[in-house]
Amino acid sequence: MYLGIDIGTSVIKAALFDAQGHQQAEASERMSLLQAPLGWSELDGEATWETTVRVIRSLLQQAAIAPASIRGIGVTGVMVGVWALDETDRLLRPPILWNDARAQALVDAMVSRRPDLISSVFSHSGSVMQLGCTLPVIAWLAENEPDVLAKARHILTAKDFVRYRLTGAIATDESEAAMAPGSAVTRDFHPDQAALLGIGDHVHLLAPVARGETLAGAVSASAASQTGLVAGTPVAIGTGDTSACVLGAGAHRPGQAVSVLGTTCLNGVLFDRAVYKPRDLGLLFIVPGKRWMKSMVNVAGTTVLDWCLETLCPDIAAGHSPYETLGALAEQSPAGANGVSFTPYLSASGVIAPRIEPKARAGFHGLAPHHRRADMVRAVYEGLAYAIRDCFEAVGGARTSIRLVGGGARSPFWSQMIADVTGVPVEVPAGTQFGAKGAALCAAVAIGDYASLDEACEATFTLKARFEPSSATKPAYDAGFARFKAGSKAALGILRAVAD
Ligand code: ADP
Repeated sequence: MYLGIDIGTSVIKAALFDAQGHQQAEASERMSLLQAPLGWSELDGEATWETTVRVIRSLLQQAAIAPASIRGIGVTGVMVGVWALDETDRLLRPPILWNDARAQALVDAMVSRRPDLISSVFSHSGSVMQLGCTLPVIAWLAENEPDVLAKARHILTAKDFVRYRLTGAIATDESEAAMAPGSAVTRDFHPDQAALLGIGDHVHLLAPVARGETLAGAVSASAASQTGLVAGTPVAIGTGDTSACVLGAGAHRPGQAVSVLGTTCLNGVLFDRAVYKPRDLGLLFIVPGKRWMKSMVNVAGTTVLDWCLETLCPDIAAGHSPYETLGALAEQSPAGANGVSFTPYLSASGVIAPRIEPKARAGFHGLAPHHRRADMVRAVYEGLAYAIRDCFEAVGGARTSIRLVGGGARSPFWSQMIADVTGVPVEVPAGTQFGAKGAALCAAVAIGDYASLDEACEATFTLKARFEPSSATKPAYDAGFARFKAGSKAALGILRAVAD
């Protein structure tokens, strides 16, 4: 049995997997973000550890297994941010998370002095730097809370902190280091990036980088007494949540595509090398086991369905099985939604891929008096399927199939539509906790149960459902995609016209 622990922004999860990779038990607990000024995002770090302890205890109790049967443990979680420890290994301040935007003014000032800053960062990392990344947050601390940095001995991220509490080992992995931002080629931090962001004096605080599928240490006696795990159980380095989810979905071959259709919608393709195209767009994740995943995110994922339920279909939202009823309503309209389009930029931060426009917003287009609610609802589902195709076309690369995970993968109707719209087979893997599974697979390799992650992914993948693209709907969806592209262009054009 392998244990995977996943530290999410709002939920801490843990799951147990047997030798074949089947999920045997799962447990989770919600955590609240701290009250913080607008644009900040902070957690209570000690509460994160205490919640993790409770989740592990609850998992062990539910699974009713001897803790000694756990052969290895892997950790994953939200990436980057800053978890600063002092010399007594206490957290110096509430951890700052990936989605924190406090560094905005500082980064804007840097960019006004050096307009090619973001592009220079990208030329090493392959990712557009997010404000909540580790290095810009350190730059903010250097300016605003120098005492924190003066007292700091280590700067970690969420999963690194939890692994540290489990084992006493200070370490991070390649995915966090490259996204810090560092280098996607060396899969490590890079001194030029720290220099670009003016924090060269603080790089000694960053943790040593190791491969995700190697051992970090073992459960300490104190962590064992808190969690109920057995002291000495091996703990792997693990990896960031996106990479863990990719591995958990059994995706490891170059050319394999992955869509994570949750609250946001991430679409990536695996490569066997670092790719820097398209330039200045998207995120390049390091995946343990010598892979890279270039990805594009549509900020609104299943958010569009929840919005649709709340605003257009409160009657359905109040009933039984709202998602199934909503899907059945959409099916009353044919492929192409009778000409209605929905641009799915339903987010206060607009669109970030495959183009960047923070002011872009969602909208319906093409409505005429004969259209009915079913057409609008179908257009909402289709809008996201078109956005997925748009993201994949920007990433490029071969796409053998799309592994679809996240809440949206529960809908066979949407899964089939994504296959039809993209022309690529959609595969839904069995299981629910893919991040935890990816972390657990890192542990399985670290202890030598598999020779490589390629082998582990292959051996533990179970397909739940596969959807082949249909040629019958292709003309309607191709026309719909052309309308989507025109609508997306028009939405951005209106913005510019209004701004002028
Ligand atoms: P998160 O990104 O927060 O981890 P999940 O991947 O767990 O989210 O997805 C949760 C979302 O999935 C819900 O908010 C809902 O919109 C969507 N969802 C749940 N069930 C279905 C379904 N049967 N069909 C389509 N979407 C669904």
